[in-house]
Amino acid sequence: MQCQTVLPDTECTFWSKNGCIFEGNTCQNVIEMCEGCDHIVDGSIGPVCVKAPAPIKKWSTGLCNFATHRKVEVKISDVKVNPIKASKRAGR
Ligand code: SF4
Repeated sequence: MQCQTVLPDTECTFWSKNGCIFEGNTCQNVIEMCEGCDHIVDGSIGPVCVKAPAPIKKWSTGLCNFATHRKVEVKISDVKVNPIKASKRAGR
């Protein structure tokens, strides 16, 4: 259904006929780590995220997986290779 409070007329999975069913009955504002992300929009309560109603939770265990401004850098030396599978792949 479409949100009628924070982002009016925007489709939201948390909006029901009884209103917003997200905790606190509203989205939460973006946090400092979100600055620069393309998913920030202006809502009636200030800047909010269109992907996550609680941005602080998206950052609680590390990098937000929806973030457009920051990416995980994987070093080749950090990648573990199973030697048995690698030898099978090399044999093909
Ligand atoms: S997608 Fe992640 S980083 Fe971007 S605004 Fe939303 S919570 Fe913040």
